[in-house]
Amino acid sequence: AAKAEQGSSVRVFEPALLYARRLQGLMISELREAIRTDQLILHFQPVVELASGRIEGAEALVRWNHPERGLLMPDAFIPLAEETGIIIDLGYWVLRRAMQQLRAWQDGPGVDEDFSMRVNISTTELQSLDLIEHVREVLAETGVEASKLVIELTESMAVNGSDIDRYSLTGLRRLGIRLEIDDFGTGYSSISYLRSLPVNVVKIDRSLIQGLGKDDKERNFVAAVLQLIHACGMQAVAEGIETAEQAAELARLGCASGQGYYFGRPMAADKFAELLRGT
Ligand code: C2E
Ligand code: MG
Ligand code: MG
Ligand code: MG
Repeated sequence: AAKAEQGSSVRVFEPALLYARRLQGLMISELREAIRTDQLILHFQPVVELASGRIEGAEALVRWNHPERGLLMPDAFIPLAEETGIIIDLGYWVLRRAMQQLRAWQDGPGVDEDFSMRVNISTTELQSLDLIEHVREVLAETGVEASKLVIELTESMAVNGSDIDRYSLTGLRRLGIRLEIDDFGTGYSSISYLRSLPVNVVKIDRSLIQGLGKDDKERNFVAAVLQLIHACGMQAVAEGIETAEQAAELARLGCASGQGYYFGRPMAADKFAELLRGT
């Protein structure tokens, strides 16, 4: 009976699986093509100094302008890019584009001296032996100072502790780049690792910010997280700020920087330039 069941379940399952495989295969070649033909675009979200409201930087977020399916968000293709290794080329593209854009803004509408660009990288990229060389190359090519680049990585990547991860992190730090832990507070690891990481900035996840303005408990919790970050000698950024209340509360609690729909959604480069010019 077990055998018959197994057989029938295979018959039902297989066509769907094959279809999914074919679709994935198609998407893989489309994604490779997309990188070659510049179907990818970067949107930029402002990072704001909370005490003054000044725009101190931007985070580059990738989108795929798909010829048939329209604008795809990263969740729709980054996981596939990671599984297939395409993320290496994609990440290289993102880094180069982001640095070229920063250079253009530095030369054009005029950004503040300390304006920085944040770029997300994934585990596969961190574990690539070419990463440091790629970064060095792009900085040299665009003439952007290393201190103007912030690389965002997730908690699990930073804590993994493998030799290659440590090699990459310290190598990047040696170039003069700042490292940031993204989505802090969503990981499952113990917090003791924070003390020993070669990281400069910690970005507090949106899920911790959402509750701000509701009650004292939420505020005290965020206050404690900020104290922890500061005690480690690191700088704090809050993500997912959607209301004036949240922005004000975070400023009161001593959080240096923030990012979220309240200040601006991720937007095309020309819109961001308008924002910089204050128009
Ligand atoms: P992330 O790095 O944590 O980026 C923040 C995400 O939250 C962005 O989504 C942004 O649009 C969204 N967001 C910003 N402010 C708010 C807010 O106030 N409220 C709400 N509800 N959401 C907000 P997005 O652009 O869809 O990116 C999703 C994730 O994809 C990113 O999360 C990042 O992990 C990844 N990603 C994006 N670009 C790249 C890239 O170039 N390389 C890699 N490896 N990953 C990327
Ligand atoms: Mg990020
Ligand atoms: Mg984040
Ligand atoms: Mg997040």
